[in-house]
Amino acid sequence: MISPVLPAYARAPLSFVKGEGPWLIEESGERYLDLGAGIAVNALGHAHPALVKAVEEQARRLWHTSNLYKVPNQEALAERLVEHTFADTVFFTNSGTEAAECAIKMARKYFHGSETPERHRIITFKGAFHGRSIAPISAVGGAKMVDGFGPLLPGFDQAPYGDLDAVRALVGSETAAIMVEPIQGEGGIVVAPEGFLKGLREICDAHGLLLVLDEVQCGVGRTGKLFAHEWSGVTPDIMMVAKGIGGGFPLGACLATEDAARGMTAGTHGSTYGGNPLACAVGCAVMDIVSDPAFLADVSRISGRLRQGLEGLVASHPDVFKGIRGEGLMLGLKCVKPNADVVRAGYDTRVLVVPAADNVVRLLPPLNLTDAEVDEALARLEAVAASFETEPAE
Ligand SMILES: *Cc1c(COP(=O)(O)O)cnc(C)c1O
Repeated sequence: MISPVLPAYARAPLSFVKGEGPWLIEESGERYLDLGAGIAVNALGHAHPALVKAVEEQARRLWHTSNLYKVPNQEALAERLVEHTFADTVFFTNSGTEAAECAIKMARKYFHGSETPERHRIITFKGAFHGRSIAPISAVGGAKMVDGFGPLLPGFDQAPYGDLDAVRALVGSETAAIMVEPIQGEGGIVVAPEGFLKGLREICDAHGLLLVLDEVQCGVGRTGKLFAHEWSGVTPDIMMVAKGIGGGFPLGACLATEDAARGMTAGTHGSTYGGNPLACAVGCAVMDIVSDPAFLADVSRISGRLRQGLEGLVASHPDVFKGIRGEGLMLGLKCVKPNADVVRAGYDTRVLVVPAADNVVRLLPPLNLTDAEVDEALARLEAVAASFETEPAE
């Protein structure tokens, strides 16, 4: 008999009832060190006092009005995002998927009524992930994501990630945009090769295309900059943000330059909940913390400590791990053992990591991890690795 909850996830038999910083606590009282942070969502850990305060105060005052009216918290969050990024304007959503939908619609609409209205195709990348609605799964393809869900949305062309020549070959008279993650998350923590984003920006500029960056997973301080593309020195025309921006409250955003947003006039797009007072109260509280240069410097410092420890872990357990990749606190351990077994060994050791494609386990911990918590994480991961080596011989 089907479970009351649609069985679309193969869930671990763990039920958490409370969170404190990087810790998740089961009903039994067992404490787990959460290095997944709800897949890069709980950027400030669980029950951060500033976020709890923001929710509590706003919950007492006003939960929801409508985008029929001005929403002061939404304006305040948009102003913060505009101040700290390339963007001139922001559309708020409840998720990364909806931010991707907005970005795709915006890229198409940009050329509508222009001298090149035939431009609508978007170049995307193998191994990418932009969400689970029809447009993002059509954008990416892949049997697990699309089988049985057709007909898919036309208008997407995929290139291998990192391959500028393949991108150049795909650009045609109908191409409108290039959409890319600066670091692929679900794809297995794959960092854009040196010069890749710069090359994409040059291709976009040469052909009049829009560069759309998906920073849903790598953004909001995770790499030690507010947004990952800042390391590359290029700026996009459109950017998707979600996950960390709400710190656990469902919130996403599609950021754009004034020019890229030119088609999105009143009535062209909308959302009932997007940018509602509660969500934006939390978003403002998150932004106030993560946009502080001192906070971002600390993300870099703490990630250096974690990475150094992980290098040692990988070197001393070559039968379990064969490499480490990523930037800042968006790290992937390439596994020798099946990554699902490593994740499961983590449950036994009370440390939570997240699987990704390419037999990788991801570490996406809260950004405000302390030195002591990093050391605890390393000790637990060492125990995870050791558990494979003490397995009794057959
Ligand atoms: C998680 C994710 C999405 C989708 O976000 P949802 O909030 O699950 O809809 C899109 N892009 C990237 C890069 C992601 O990691």
